[in-house]
Amino acid sequence: MAEFNYDVDADGIATITWDLPGKSMNVLSLEGAAELESLVDKLLADDAVKGAVITSGKADFAGGMDLNVISRMKEMAGDNPAQGLFDGIMSFHRLTRKIERAGMDAKTNKGGKPIVAALPGTALGIGFEIPLSCHRIIAADNPKAKIGLPEILVGIFPGAGGTTRLSRKLDLMTVSPFLMNGKLSDPQAAKRAGLIDEVVPADELLSAAKDWVKNATDADIVKPWDQKGFKMPGGAPYHPAGFMTYVGASAMIHGKTQGVYPAAKAMLSAIYEGAQVPFDTAIRIEARWFTNVLMNPSSSAMIKTLFTNKTALEKGANRPEGIADMAVKKLGVLGAGMMGAGVAFVSARVGIEVVLLDRDQAAADTGIATITGILDQGVKRKKVTAEQKEQILGRVKATADYADLKGCDLIVEAVFEDMGVKAGVTKDAEAQLETSAIFATNTSTLPITELAKASRDDSRYIGIHFFSPVHKMNLVEIIKGKKTGPEAVAKALDFVRQIKKTPIVVNDERFFYANRCILPYVNEGITMLAEGVEPALIENAAKLLGMPLGPLQLADEVSIDLSVKIVKATQAALGDDYKGTQAEDILFKLFDEGRMGRKSKSGFYSYDDKGKRTGLWQGLRENWPVADEQPDLITVQHRLAMMQVLEAVRAFEDGVLEDIREGDVGAILGWGFMPWSGGPFSWLDIIGAPFAVEVCDQLTAEYGARFTTPDLLRKLAKDGDSFYGRFGPDTKAAA
Ligand code: NAD
Repeated sequence: MAEFNYDVDADGIATITWDLPGKSMNVLSLEGAAELESLVDKLLADDAVKGAVITSGKADFAGGMDLNVISRMKEMAGDNPAQGLFDGIMSFHRLTRKIERAGMDAKTNKGGKPIVAALPGTALGIGFEIPLSCHRIIAADNPKAKIGLPEILVGIFPGAGGTTRLSRKLDLMTVSPFLMNGKLSDPQAAKRAGLIDEVVPADELLSAAKDWVKNATDADIVKPWDQKGFKMPGGAPYHPAGFMTYVGASAMIHGKTQGVYPAAKAMLSAIYEGAQVPFDTAIRIEARWFTNVLMNPSSSAMIKTLFTNKTALEKGANRPEGIADMAVKKLGVLGAGMMGAGVAFVSARVGIEVVLLDRDQAAADTGIATITGILDQGVKRKKVTAEQKEQILGRVKATADYADLKGCDLIVEAVFEDMGVKAGVTKDAEAQLETSAIFATNTSTLPITELAKASRDDSRYIGIHFFSPVHKMNLVEIIKGKKTGPEAVAKALDFVRQIKKTPIVVNDERFFYANRCILPYVNEGITMLAEGVEPALIENAAKLLGMPLGPLQLADEVSIDLSVKIVKATQAALGDDYKGTQAEDILFKLFDEGRMGRKSKSGFYSYDDKGKRTGLWQGLRENWPVADEQPDLITVQHRLAMMQVLEAVRAFEDGVLEDIREGDVGAILGWGFMPWSGGPFSWLDIIGAPFAVEVCDQLTAEYGARFTTPDLLRKLAKDGDSFYGRFGPDTKAAA
């Protein structure tokens, strides 16, 4: 199947047009790479061809490598996977190097054919590494296009020469956000940063590319690193300036990754070692480090969760079958507070008409002010134009009149967290709606099945739980009440797809999934404080696990009063079954002292007048003295990690989670669970069930029943099985 078209014009300029059949976006497969190489061979061998343009037949250039291929490369590589991977990666280098050298004489650098990349739109990953090997990169002036190397975000790094080429094209400080943070730029910004060479109007893209080919001289097509006397921009590692940069970069990476993400460190090693040798050796070094990263279980777990499974969920892997598209046309949002305004904004942003209702017009208008604030930030950062801002605001009608909800096919309710208030607005809203409409609540703690009782049709009632701030948090937890029907689930999933977020679908149990797992983490941190564990040890142990926030900091962010409210609600719900904890005594004490967390600029941490954290509150030591003997780091880490992971396993055992992929994706996107691990289930698979059982048994003996090994985990250990081995999508499909 041809993935590239080849054509030579009257001037002898070949155009290679990437156009993967049946797909809206080009992605590189192994077959595609082989085909491209044969076309490059063909144009280099043909004396009638003077030069070439590599472009795309689609709106975008390419989305990158087919990551499913990468995750399988290891398995395909047979007995010696590392060698297989290395050889596979070197074949990409052979291709890009062939383009770059373009047939020129090895000694004189003369006689090569100019090859230019012409990018109509987005060019990501290997879809940008191929252009980087061309002699010039011209992009269409398409503000929607994204150009860059986002590999680091899924736990790998640019391994088809992008790392070596970019770090030789620009100095390390300049490339750092593009390589280390996976920053993407639109064409104009990419040109300003020096990633690409030229931006032209879209309809002049091909002619500009061909003109360049026609006029290019021998000197124009020799890369700086293939010229005599090449020096690393910004200085090589042992140059005084370079030395400073490399030492700084190493510290910066460690500070950012806490040493838990292998890819960032491996990438810097590839740059550092590569900078000291000629280019062809440098790309071999890059290939070795890339192999090293692909062999690391963290990388495959990250790719699996953050790419393969996340994409599958977004595409409706768990959407009920046989239900036609239920995309939302008109959305009603009840409650124009922080969450309601956020939901209205993300919906209007994608073109949905929104009615935003609150108790009175003034309260509803507050929601509009919130949305305007978010949009103004966007305008300031040049992410939104003034025209787009007006269009988005134009789609939101703020009102206090329920009659305006007529015609809404979905309602998202985000009023106060109170059964009575929610029941009241449900009835008032439903009185205006067609019977086909779906009603969703954004509650974070109230049972969906109970709330549904206020609805005229509990089969069309569902939970759609957003995280705060709505416009930044990509996870949406869809919660099925006991009677929720498939159409409500399909509607919720279609809505989440429209607003470009990632859904998980869970069942209705206390705190659903994400909050259920994160609360024990916070509690465990506070419990350790009560036991006399050094507060800095607790916080740093969490950071060294790759958690974005330590448990004490997270408690401050969530706010102490909310935690106290949750404790009281849990006490009320469980009645005599409720067992008090050491952690709640600490929470109540902070609450009584008015230390409400970040919002009151005082909590477990101290803050300055501007609300910036200045360090752990000194009063912690006075109130809860630090014990003479401290636990070792690994014990603290095991306690913090296991509290979350065991809750995830129990949620799966209880049937709250129906799919472990959702458990992993939800954990990373919902509360930032150790992203390098691929999620709680992937982490257990990495450490292996037998070791996990050993750790749990030890923790149970020392710290109590909350660490009891779930039966399911013990069974997997006994059977020598893993979560993905037994419950992964392949197994599920076969079952
Ligand atoms: P909020 O206090 O900012 O907003 C609630 C809004 O509801 C207010 O504007 C209020 O005027 C309005 N309201 C109250 N009673 C009403 C009525 N009878 N009719 C119409 N409007 C009414 O609260 P929030 O933080 O936006 O939370 C809203 C819901 O979202 C709650 O159920 C909460 O549990 C849930 N939630 C909150 C978060 C969070 O982090 N804040 C996260 C997920 C879910």
